[in-house]
Amino acid sequence: MEEIVVIGGGQAGAQAIISLRQLGFEGKVTLICGEKQLPYQRPPLSKAFLKGELAEERLYFRPSDFYDKQNVRVLTGVLAKKIDREVQAIELSNGETVSYTKLLLATGAPPRKLPFEHDNLTNVHYLRTLEDSENLSPALSSEGRVIVIGAGYIGLEVAAVACAAGREVTVLELADRVLARVASEPVSHFYQDLHKDAGVDLRLDSAVESFDIDDNQIKSVKLTNGTVLECATVLVGIGATPETKLAEEAGLEIDNGIVVDEHTQTSVPNIWAAGDCSNFPYPRYGRRVRLESVPNAIEQAKVTAANMLGDKKVHNALPWFWSDQYDVKLQTVGLMQGFDDLILRGKPENKSFSVWYFKEGKLLAVDALNDAPSFMVAKKLLSTETNITPEQAKDTEFNLKLLF
Ligand SMILES: Cc1cc2nc3c(=O)[nH]c(=O)nc-3n(C[C@H](O)[C@H](O)[C@H](O)COP(=O)(O)OP(=O)(O)OC[C@H]3O[C@@H](n4cnc5c(N)ncnc54)[C@H](O)[C@@H]3O)c2cc1C
Repeated sequence: MEEIVVIGGGQAGAQAIISLRQLGFEGKVTLICGEKQLPYQRPPLSKAFLKGELAEERLYFRPSDFYDKQNVRVLTGVLAKKIDREVQAIELSNGETVSYTKLLLATGAPPRKLPFEHDNLTNVHYLRTLEDSENLSPALSSEGRVIVIGAGYIGLEVAAVACAAGREVTVLELADRVLARVASEPVSHFYQDLHKDAGVDLRLDSAVESFDIDDNQIKSVKLTNGTVLECATVLVGIGATPETKLAEEAGLEIDNGIVVDEHTQTSVPNIWAAGDCSNFPYPRYGRRVRLESVPNAIEQAKVTAANMLGDKKVHNALPWFWSDQYDVKLQTVGLMQGFDDLILRGKPENKSFSVWYFKEGKLLAVDALNDAPSFMVAKKLLSTETNITPEQAKDTEFNLKLLF
């Protein structure tokens, strides 16, 4: 009998088992969750859940009886320690061994850590798990300065929550603009103004030289320009690294993630990988990518489930993402890297605008800020491969809906 094992009970792992059953797979399914909870969603951990506006129950994808009804064996708080490809079995941290005929790796991408000599610093936070968010939440409503290291989406979302809670917040960013890796200059500049107007002390081109540590806490941060900033809480948001250890030790090909082909299969025939941990060829963009986003994890897991059952689907879904900071919702569709022209529609000062990215006259991506209609149109244009010219995008009188 077929035995499918999924390692990693996050967004991709949970979607894969849901899809396997929806597609009619009747064999054995085991989901190995390193975390002690049933699969849950992460985006609210830096947004509504961190603010205390969303109950824990709302984080879970499915109630616990769902897994029983679907006849899925879920092992929570158990880590896969080793994949033995010879005998097709996985050694677990609880001493058990589970065998598989097909295996999915959905191990995600944990936060990159500061190069510390000190462990157990009680006021230093990373944000990935439910516990991380639960630990950070009270720290954001107590006294003293919050220092956020890294102005990526997670760092900025936490800064917005802390600032709205009345905390003194300093954001330190190595680059000369926020979101430098993922956003264009107009979007970065918009967010810089948004945070500064809210009262955040935003320091660009700022590198940390050292920390003053006492009593297992960082008391102050010294920057390379000599500035010393006292603090009560530190949130580190300096990116994530794909979790590839198991795969690497099992001899799978690794290159910024677990390398998969267009059918999400790894370099070993009966092992697949999906979600943040996987590096895949993207026909839509003609290059390999590794994405850290919910929609990608969901779509890739659906394709993977079908392929594990013998299909030959290609993962080529349109990428999209969102971020909530203060009263601004960013919705982005497509990948803007490589653009040679950008068009601004609307006015950033009105906190509602969109940025349209083109390469050689072809639409690549759109960032929509408090502009859901533009996001919807862009999504439709990109998914139906209907082009819009830069001139049409520039003309705010032009009714985008006429394109369909
Ligand atoms: C705070 C935060 C906010 C975010 N906000 C957004 C957002 O607004 N929009 C968006 O699109 N995306 C957002 N993301 C990203 C999104 O959550 C991820 O892209 C998505 O969760 C990826 O799913 P995944 O299944 O690949 O990995 P994950 O959801 O990270 O799951 C991987 C799981 O594998 C487990 N695991 C790893 N190794 C083992 C092992 N050896 N044995 C057993 N289990 C193991 C891990 O413990 C983890 O539970 C956010 C992420 C975070 C952390």
